[in-house]
Amino acid sequence: MDIKTNIIAFKQSLPESVKLVAVSKTKSPGEIMEAYNAGHRVFGESKAQELLPKHEALPKDIEWHMVGHLQTNKVKYIAPFVALIHSVDSLKLLKVINKEGRKNDRIVSCLLQMHIADEGTKFGMDYEECCRLLESEAFRDMKHVEVKGLMGMATFTDDHEKVRNEFRQLKKYFDAIKQQYFAGKDAFREVSMGMSDDYQLGIGEGSTMVRVGSAIFGDRKQL
Ligand SMILES: *Cc1c(COP(=O)(O)O)cnc(C)c1O
Repeated sequence: MDIKTNIIAFKQSLPESVKLVAVSKTKSPGEIMEAYNAGHRVFGESKAQELLPKHEALPKDIEWHMVGHLQTNKVKYIAPFVALIHSVDSLKLLKVINKEGRKNDRIVSCLLQMHIADEGTKFGMDYEECCRLLESEAFRDMKHVEVKGLMGMATFTDDHEKVRNEFRQLKKYFDAIKQQYFAGKDAFREVSMGMSDDYQLGIGEGSTMVRVGSAIFGDRKQL
């Protein structure tokens, strides 16, 4: 797998409005450096305990994104440096991120993860839960988090029409939430949708960020 060639080709194929988060979970610092040396700076990980040592070992101008499910007791490890948490799926988690943001004297950027797939195993909030979070007094009082948009994962299936519909639904949620809670607020602008197998469908439905791992780094031996 020639990571450098892959990432350069991949970035050239993306519309300029779409940001590439290169998902480097299970990949070594050496492999990440191949992408780094090709000019890439935005990487994503799905486990806090993997993100922290990579942040420590690798160049400090890397923008680290947390894309996987985040447990409240792990927030403290990544709060000092994480650039964007894609996977906020409860008010409880957001409260902890806010608390850790305060301790670190920074504002932590977050996306709210919505459940759009049909499998019960995928994390994320439904629309009502998301609205309750945004309307809560607890959320209004938070000074150390900034909600920048939504994230969602489609069902794992070959059925493109199904995936397309799920992404379309996420974009509709985004538009509705933007209008109701973030009208005129430029910071609320991201729709994180699309992975190696479905990023084109995501882009077709209005994605602003794709999270791509295996199409750049090759298959993962373990998940
Ligand atoms: C692993 C992972 C990705 C990337 O998956 P690929 O299929 O390898 O592109 C994207 N998003 C999340 C949340 C992930 O855990």
